[in-house]
Amino acid sequence: MSTLAPTSLPLSFEFFPPKTPEGFDKLAAVRQQLYPLKPHYCSVTYGAGGSTQDGTIQTVRAILSEGFDAAPHFSCIGASKAGVREQLAQFASQGIRRLVALRGDLPSGYGGFGEFRYASELVAYIREETGDHFHIEVAAYPEMHPQARNPQADLEAFVTKVKAGANVALTQYFFNADAYFRFVDDAAKQGVSIPIIPGIMPITNSTQLMRFSDACGAEIPRWIRSRLEGYGDDKASIQAFGLDVVAELCEKLRRAGVPGLHFYTMNQSTSVLALCQRLGW
Ligand code: FAD
Repeated sequence: MSTLAPTSLPLSFEFFPPKTPEGFDKLAAVRQQLYPLKPHYCSVTYGAGGSTQDGTIQTVRAILSEGFDAAPHFSCIGASKAGVREQLAQFASQGIRRLVALRGDLPSGYGGFGEFRYASELVAYIREETGDHFHIEVAAYPEMHPQARNPQADLEAFVTKVKAGANVALTQYFFNADAYFRFVDDAAKQGVSIPIIPGIMPITNSTQLMRFSDACGAEIPRWIRSRLEGYGDDKASIQAFGLDVVAELCEKLRRAGVPGLHFYTMNQSTSVLALCQRLGW
């Protein structure tokens, strides 16, 4: 591991909070395997409606105690302003200075939207309540958020969210770099100057990837989908092909001068390490 050369491109790693004590131990080992890559920070997802709140904070605290910066994701759907204020105070008291602010998705059976309709309202509220205490990251969708009316409306919503006080945007994963380049250009034309960091999803399991992509509106290009389908249960071929495709994408993005890369690790180190090794990072 110590032979890995850190890249000068800022990398960040996203984890989800484990559900069991064994899961926490396993994730702690995964983090140690990834730390030689010197992540700029790590982020930890948050179940909409606060369903993973304790696990999110516990994981963020563990990362901070290991000497790396960490950001909890924080979704506002179903939340009240008083609840968010309390949560922000808790984050601040734990030494957290960075947040990924999201709307989230309404879990089934959940009552209503609460006091925030969009992430832009959460960002504005965080700024109103806590000034510049938090470095705020928001989500961006180069291939459009699945509930948006059209790409123009989604871009407009994104610009509003940035103007509400976001510092950085992290994108939904994509395999088509042109969609990202176009989104960044369009956002710049609307006056967006914050870094828009590509989200990178390693390809390791085709069933899982197709399920996620259908749910979040990320497109798997036809040629990638048919290759993956053709490999059936042949995991080694899927992983070798996935490594080629995603390494090529990362290299293309790096050459284009992206401000960083955010890896959806799925709490695994192998694929991210393989990618970074392939890229000579
Ligand atoms: P918003 O920016 O509020 O956008 C949601 C929709 O509303 C979009 O269609 C947008 O076009 C529309 N919209 C926004 N503002 C307006 C407006 N003023 N008028 C009309 N329409 C508007 N989910 C989780 O539950 N937990 C996580 O930890 C998590 N982490 C994520 C991390 C990243 C990097 C990304 C890209 C997504 C993540 N998600 C997570 C998923 C996210 O919560 C969903 O995609 C959710 O549906 C939208 O959240 P958002 O913050 O992008 O919402």
